[in-house]
Amino acid sequence: METMRAAVFEKAGSFILKDVPVPKIEREDQILLEVNAVSICGTDLHITADPPGYDAKPGTILGHELVGTVVETGAAATHLKPGDRVVVNPNNYCGVCAFCRKNLPNLCLHIEPLGIEFDGAFAKYCVVSGKVAYKISPHVPDEVAACAEPLACAINGVRKVNVLPGENAVVIGGGPIGLMIVMLLKASGVRDCYLLETAPFRLKFARKLGIAKVIDPREQDAPAIVAEETGIGADYVFDVTGSQVVPAIKMARKGGRVVLFGVNGKAVSQVLQKEITTKEIAVLGTWLANATFPEAVRVLETGAVDLASLITDVIPLEEVHKGLAKLARGEAVKVVVKP
Ligand SMILES: [Zn+2]
Ligand SMILES: [Zn+2]
Repeated sequence: METMRAAVFEKAGSFILKDVPVPKIEREDQILLEVNAVSICGTDLHITADPPGYDAKPGTILGHELVGTVVETGAAATHLKPGDRVVVNPNNYCGVCAFCRKNLPNLCLHIEPLGIEFDGAFAKYCVVSGKVAYKISPHVPDEVAACAEPLACAINGVRKVNVLPGENAVVIGGGPIGLMIVMLLKASGVRDCYLLETAPFRLKFARKLGIAKVIDPREQDAPAIVAEETGIGADYVFDVTGSQVVPAIKMARKGGRVVLFGVNGKAVSQVLQKEITTKEIAVLGTWLANATFPEAVRVLETGAVDLASLITDVIPLEEVHKGLAKLARGEAVKVVVKP
């Protein structure tokens, strides 16, 4: 049997490199990919932490933000052929449940999360459904193409507000998603973007990128700065941390919108509901990517946002643990693995 090196989630706190069989196509809709690049996600950090902050199935190969080259196609995957390079929506949906039929495939009742419950891409080969694979131009480098999935999620978040040129925004959390949201907002015509971050490396990194007014909320009074500079508060506030709904509501203007992107299963917030009512705030959740992969691919192909500037590390699979540790220390932004 042919084998390959893979990074496998064994149990809480145990994430190991080992040799496993090369996966095979088992359904007609599937394709076999040779993985070109796979980026490490915050979710991978939560899964491999002890105790885990996000549950994965023991024995699963992690890695869900990937670009790969088609090696073989199942009989029903007729839109792809060997040699095509594709990015993948790792949340395969059924297409027939009540939510899929409401055009909400990100909320499908039968999602198959690749790299969390189904074998993912921290390996040389990976099998995915052809339904969730999108061709991408060879001009987009592998490292950048690997970021299509978080970009598609960020686009889904930005779509929740109707961006108008000249408006202003606050983004809480300066990791890859927060920075991608800032880039998308700026590309959509938002005038001033305030980015709140507390980790020293990320503060410095965001300041150097020069795309937002970067605030350390431990050192500076962010709501006061936003209120004073905008006059009325922010038109939209994105919380990418999963725990900052209270300051988000505070910084939004009357009639403003708050988008909750981040997931933190432990964060319980006490919200003064009256503030939402009397300020007529719209509080909007956003989850995964809903039909935003074609846009993400276009954004990458046209260079509308510069994701290459977010990649701090490109490493071989052998160093995946080092990459995770660097991210856990907040000393990297986007780490891309080339298996
Ligand atoms: Zn991810
Ligand atoms: Zn479904």
